[in-house]
Amino acid sequence: MSPRIAIIGAGFGGLCMAIQLERAGITSYTVFEKAGEVGGTWRDNSYPGAGCDIPSHLYSFSFEKYASWTRRYPGQPEILGYLAHCADKYGVRGKIRFHTEVSAAAFDGGHWHLTTRPLPSGTAECAQPDGPRDDRPVPGVGGVRIEEFDVVVAGVGQLNRPLMPDIPGMADFEGVSFHSARWNHDHDLSGRRVAVIGTGSSAAQFIPPVAGRAGHLDVFQRTPNWVIPKPDAAFGPLTRLALHFVPGLQRAYREWIYRYAEGTLYPALARGWSEGLLRKRALGHLRAQVTDPGLRAKLTPGYPPGCKRVVIDSKFYPALTRPNVDVVTDRIVRITAKGVETTRGLRAADTIIYGTGFKSTEFLAPIAFTGRGGQRLDERWKQGAEAYLGISVPDFPNLFLLYGPNTNLGHNSIIFMIECQVNHIMNCLPHLSDRGPMEVRPEAMAAWSRQLDVAMTRMVWGNGCRSWYKTAEGRVTNNWPGPTPLYRKLTALPPLPAYRFG
Ligand code: FAD
Repeated sequence: MSPRIAIIGAGFGGLCMAIQLERAGITSYTVFEKAGEVGGTWRDNSYPGAGCDIPSHLYSFSFEKYASWTRRYPGQPEILGYLAHCADKYGVRGKIRFHTEVSAAAFDGGHWHLTTRPLPSGTAECAQPDGPRDDRPVPGVGGVRIEEFDVVVAGVGQLNRPLMPDIPGMADFEGVSFHSARWNHDHDLSGRRVAVIGTGSSAAQFIPPVAGRAGHLDVFQRTPNWVIPKPDAAFGPLTRLALHFVPGLQRAYREWIYRYAEGTLYPALARGWSEGLLRKRALGHLRAQVTDPGLRAKLTPGYPPGCKRVVIDSKFYPALTRPNVDVVTDRIVRITAKGVETTRGLRAADTIIYGTGFKSTEFLAPIAFTGRGGQRLDERWKQGAEAYLGISVPDFPNLFLLYGPNTNLGHNSIIFMIECQVNHIMNCLPHLSDRGPMEVRPEAMAAWSRQLDVAMTRMVWGNGCRSWYKTAEGRVTNNWPGPTPLYRKLTALPPLPAYRFG
């Protein structure tokens, strides 16, 4: 009998898992999605200018060739369209329980019991409440249900819950404010006095269109980015036809992008041969696009390139040089009713946009996972999340994570990593039926953590900057420190030696 599989999330990860199950003829699965549509990141981040910084012929499933990409780096609507296409083509949409949030999952020695609750239409896309949570809901009350499964696959992403800063007075602001992942499309920015707080990858994308509309824009920058140009271009009709119909061309193009990222960008992050090249490229880009020495000084980073995610964008710097834009580096003291107060006084605003990123190190939160012997995953991960291959955790049998701890990349496509993880889980599933629940051995986990620690010392992320890749204490919990072919190899190995049963 096929195991009953619960998949949490219908982004790239959850959809990939569901599709591979369908392709293997396993239909005993349910996908729980708290929002009302597939897409995850690409449903929630609809801000102007939203897009991918990996070309979509690579930032897509290896098994799903797509004729509709219109440009090298398509924007959010195209990527969302691709995911909807995949969900429909592979027949997984009917298995998705939309507007259903998983709030808890408990292992009883043999099975997982998931607590699910409906989220009313129209509110499902909102950030989840951060207040105190009762982990013991009463079955049947408010639509809460307890449902039993043999296997749980968590595909909740690393960048799903917006992070709002903790600035005094935020509630006093009399204008309109919102986070970039909850864009207020009803609020017309034309002629407004806008403050943008944060200058990470999302802000770098939405600042150019906002600068073009706003009357005045203050960009509040804590740390400057390393920025390199985005070699974007629309595909002409002939290129699109060729990519679709010439046998092997799309695969060869995908392979070329992959090898380029791996061969030139990865060594820069591993302090290898291209580190200096990346620095030179970024500084050259800054010199070419920003002529004012004062502004250039503000925008020159004082930490190694790659320590934070490198911004790949050609429109960001030109937007900052516009006469209606100021880059403000004075420390923010508080938000008042009328704007943003810094150490040098008030900067008036009628709109504040928070480009402050996500709660990236709180993996799986706020779902309360309880494993063998009543162990809580959030307790286990107090010092920082870790999982074998980023997928499995001792004492949490038959639980598999997608895009889990230490599987994010600063240089290549996350979809590659997700496919490796799904492949590993598919290799595990045939072993489940006859031998009981499957759990990674503590010694395999310990060896994995030791190897990660050693590999991490080579990487550029550890020192010199704050970033979403690491905890407040400085432990890098998000990124994979090796080359991605190594990750593919490790996840493709026969899984049994690392696991125990029963
Ligand atoms: P997500 O896309 O986050 O999907 C998770 C899903 O789980 C969501 O639909 C969510 O609603 C659902 N969910 C969460 N909790 C629950 C729950 N308790 N119950 C039910 N459902 C739940 N990566 C790259 O490789 N290249 C890029 O250029 C790139 N650009 C990015 C740009 C932005 C603005 C952001 C935010 C991320 C970017 N990423 C990029 C990372 C991106 O998140 C991943 O590439 C990928 O989309 C992750 O897919 P996922 O399915 O793991 O997670």
